[in-house]
Amino acid sequence: TQAPIITVDGPSGAGKGTLCMLLAAEMGWNLLDSGAIYRVLALAAIHHGVDTESEDALVPLAAHLDVQFKAEGDLVKVILEGEDVSGTLRTEEVGNAASKVAALPRVREALLRRQRAFSESPGLVADGRDMGTVVFPQAEAKIFLDASAEERARRRHNQLQQKGLDVNFDRLLSEIQERDDRDRNRAVAPLRPADDAIVLDSTSLNIEQVLEQALAYIRSRI
Ligand code: C5P
Repeated sequence: TQAPIITVDGPSGAGKGTLCMLLAAEMGWNLLDSGAIYRVLALAAIHHGVDTESEDALVPLAAHLDVQFKAEGDLVKVILEGEDVSGTLRTEEVGNAASKVAALPRVREALLRRQRAFSESPGLVADGRDMGTVVFPQAEAKIFLDASAEERARRRHNQLQQKGLDVNFDRLLSEIQERDDRDRNRAVAPLRPADDAIVLDSTSLNIEQVLEQALAYIRSRI
């Protein structure tokens, strides 16, 4: 029998990462951060001088991507070709490059098997844009976590300020909107709720409230 799956899709900054980490801990299940795979591919392309708009050059890179995810306590370290890239991976620059490589159909195809391999016993929580629509359409529970662009930019701005980074709010907001537009409007696997997903809007909810609503829904399904 197949291990059960919970998918969490939505735009960047809606709180998917935190929710998925808490859900995986609560259920005692595995976690897939599919965005990290697109980010790692973008970073590998930058490292190897591969054009992030060249599908022909990116497909073999995606197929042979040497990446490992190592759990260390609550954190997951991402190792690309033996090097810990966890820090660099989270930058806006890499996020933007990731959303460009992610728009290429054959690149997405090349990463499908790698993502599906995360579905192992006792279960999987999958975080991304197309988890419920394309990668795991058979999932038992599907959540689409949304929030207004302004709220998502505000949260990201706070996170960066806590790290001592002073970035311009308006620029952050326009970058977030640009990335979302690209993710929502691409031809293949666009960001959208699956027909059988529930939509949770986290704009005016804190993480405890989001977790509570998500768990209530999941318990009605699994
Ligand atoms: O979620 P995260 O911000 O790490 O994702 C980076 C980019 O990777 C997204 O903007 C999106 O373009 C792409 N992505 C995707 N499909 C996924 C996960 C991420 O296209 N399942």
